[in-house]
Amino acid sequence: MGDKITIAIDGFSSCGKSTLAKELARKLHYVFIDSGAMYRGITLFALNNDCIKGKQIDRRKLISVIDDIELSFQLNPETKSPELLLNGENVEFEIRTPRVSGFVSEIAAIKEVREKLVSEQRLMGLKGGIVMDGRDIGSVVFPNAELKLFVTAEIDIRVERRYQELLFKEIETTREEVKTNLIRRDHIDSTRSESPLIKTDDAIVIDNSTYTKDQQLSVAFELVQDVLSSYA
Ligand code: C5P
Repeated sequence: MGDKITIAIDGFSSCGKSTLAKELARKLHYVFIDSGAMYRGITLFALNNDCIKGKQIDRRKLISVIDDIELSFQLNPETKSPELLLNGENVEFEIRTPRVSGFVSEIAAIKEVREKLVSEQRLMGLKGGIVMDGRDIGSVVFPNAELKLFVTAEIDIRVERRYQELLFKEIETTREEVKTNLIRRDHIDSTRSESPLIKTDDAIVIDNSTYTKDQQLSVAFELVQDVLSSYA
């Protein structure tokens, strides 16, 4: 191992995983990857390319064009956050809309979708020095990650967080709609046959219900320091 480790952050929807992962990566000068954005990118592609008609997903069609989907990240110089590019086009706004949230968990349960994204995610992490958040990062993408965190938070806190985020982006929704979507996605994500969301035995739980952003960052940062000093 070099002096840069791999950090896997998993958990249910809207627990603050991406915020923690982003802040931690910034503090450590590591790469941050929001793997959920990649599943959202494929879902947007499916919606815009007739692979979803009405409520029906045409899996066969999506699998046949899956190699045409190119995902990458580009740093927004103002917010200093990475934003998703789908075939070269910035889709950061579209991938957060309820239209995409409504299908993303079904798309993420497709084996071929996961195979594509897991192999791309592993390539991104080859050199270490990465913080990636998602659902299967500690269990499947980086099972040997030196630090694995599992973030949880109470449902009403998660709903409020996601609702405020959408409100800020002027995306029309209601608390009820957000709650229904979170519960539904959590259910699909944890019961699917392909790499379901689980807490691995070696993951450390951070309950984010009462922490401020700064508190959760300092808890996680201390855990990183513990790992780094154990290797020193
Ligand atoms: O993290 P976010 O809520 O944006 O993720 C959107 C969806 O993408 C999740 O509900 C899940 O279905 C899927 N996902 C996944 N595996 C990951 C990351 C996200 O299945 N590593």
